[in-house]
Amino acid sequence: MSEPPSDCLFCRMVAGEIAPDVVRETDRTLAFRDINPQAPTHVLVVPREHHATLGALTAADPGLTGELVAAAHAVALQEGLVADGGAEPGYRLVANTGPQAGQTVHHVHLHVLGGRGLGWPPG
Ligand code: 5GP
Ligand code: ZN
Repeated sequence: MSEPPSDCLFCRMVAGEIAPDVVRETDRTLAFRDINPQAPTHVLVVPREHHATLGALTAADPGLTGELVAAAHAVALQEGLVADGGAEPGYRLVANTGPQAGQTVHHVHLHVLGGRGLGWPPG
């Protein structure tokens, strides 16, 4: 794990210094609603441990990467974006990595987006 910056927004949420709108939590992950939702359901899923990017997380702890994806899918189920074992109506996971992809918070997070038709390819 890289040393978390003291001002990391998502570390501050995990630490309870800032209270997000939590939708689900496990011992190693936290899921909360995005403050600027881009779809009727827009939830961010983060590992409690600080890793800057998906690549850094995967290199450090591939098991936790799996837990993060599983947590995101559990959110999709909980939010009614898919039924258990099904794929309808559907949802999208996004992990923006680096400036060209528009990553603004440097604590890895999966966006869970759904509740409307999502265009492809993204802009
Ligand atoms: P990124 O652009 O890094 O992939 O996504 C960062 C996300 O964090 C954005 O969708 C943004 O709306 C969200 N965000 C930024 N500040 C806050 C905040 O204070 N609370 C919550 N819940 N989400 C935030
Ligand atoms: Zn952090």
